[in-house]
Amino acid sequence: MLAAALLLAAAVAAGYGLGAIAILLIVGAIVTFLGQGSAMPILAPSPVRLPPSADRLPTATAASVPAERAALGVDALGDPALIVGGDFWVIAANAAARTLFGDRVVADDLRLVLRHPAVLDAVRVAAAAAAPVEREVTGLGTTNGAYRVRVATLGPDGGGERLLVTFVDITQARLTERMRVDFIANASHELRTPVTTLLGFIETLQGPAADDEPARHRFLEIMHREAARMSRLIDDLLSLSRIELDKHVRPQTALDVAPLIADVGRTLAMRLEADDRRLAIRVADGLPPVVADRDQVLQVLHNLVSNALKYGRSGTAITVDAEPVDAAGVAMVRVTVGDRGDGIAPEHLPRLTERFYRIDTSRSRSMGGTGLGLAIVKHIVERHRGAFDIVSVPGEGSHVSFTLPLASTEVTVKRV
Ligand code: ADP
Repeated sequence: MLAAALLLAAAVAAGYGLGAIAILLIVGAIVTFLGQGSAMPILAPSPVRLPPSADRLPTATAASVPAERAALGVDALGDPALIVGGDFWVIAANAAARTLFGDRVVADDLRLVLRHPAVLDAVRVAAAAAAPVEREVTGLGTTNGAYRVRVATLGPDGGGERLLVTFVDITQARLTERMRVDFIANASHELRTPVTTLLGFIETLQGPAADDEPARHRFLEIMHREAARMSRLIDDLLSLSRIELDKHVRPQTALDVAPLIADVGRTLAMRLEADDRRLAIRVADGLPPVVADRDQVLQVLHNLVSNALKYGRSGTAITVDAEPVDAAGVAMVRVTVGDRGDGIAPEHLPRLTERFYRIDTSRSRSMGGTGLGLAIVKHIVERHRGAFDIVSVPGEGSHVSFTLPLASTEVTVKRV
């Protein structure tokens, strides 16, 4: 092929009788041959289309992996992906990688555009060993961005020279894992406190206070209170895990909300009376039935009225309003529990539905709180595709509301 090119160039030059032109044409033929590969027709006008960035690539890299061809490969991948030379030169990047690292990631040195030591080290090790390397890294894209980075050599001719670097986003998975670990730690801590108290009193009753009748009486009361707290906590933990299990199963029963509110009023009657409180229930006339899980709606109402009792002022009324509302074009029933009491400072509002988040932990504990009440409410309301909202004025009180979808908007509902 090279010989034919030389002959052709010499013949053309000789035809014009110009020695200098012959030399130029021969040099040009050699350059063309080396640059475009033996498959290209020599001296024929070649319509090779290079990507806009190709002119900035070092000759060797551009020649061994045409950027256009490499880009076609990575473009098929949904996760961010780069093709990198062993010299750290970025040959191609797909759309996801350009979004993550910026457009200038292509045709630049990876060490300059992505200054993450763990990623660069993975590329270095994979290139040296000509073997795949996988690392989990944080701080890519955003401070909390966590990615599983995989560097693979591309084909036998790569020999560690050309590498495919893919980035799988594991930020959410890491966050969920972190929340699970925190949750177990918090739950264990919450359970350990009453257990430690119980053990302490049991030891005291077995030893120094064995014959002290008044102390025994007092200690047993405390032990009963602590055991009840543990029992409530275990109930709430079990509730949460049951709700989580069912969270993708939509409730199917049509039911009226008014009797449920009255039911909760009866359950909490003694506590209301003990604190000189009263439940003021106002249900809109002809309130349509909702589609909901009866026990779960009872639990939501119970938790919200209990909170109004715990954090509202003694002697004040607790209001419960139920009315139809239009929620962004969808007809729903909204239930609002209002109290007059402490209220909640705005900075706490976004975190109140986190498990074990409490404004004043010792106050919550002394009132028998587990710190899980609003987390349970939030999960139940989400399962019902409803909305949860808190409006509160510190020092005045709070209005906590949730919405439930109407039974009439659901196609398959069972009437109870
Ligand atoms: P707890 O068992 O501690 O009451 P919740 O999840 O029900 O747990 O509530 C979380 C926190 O939100 C409470 O500890 C309390 O600080 C605050 N809170 C909830 N409801 C009210 C309310 N009606 N008024 C003032 N603060 C409230």
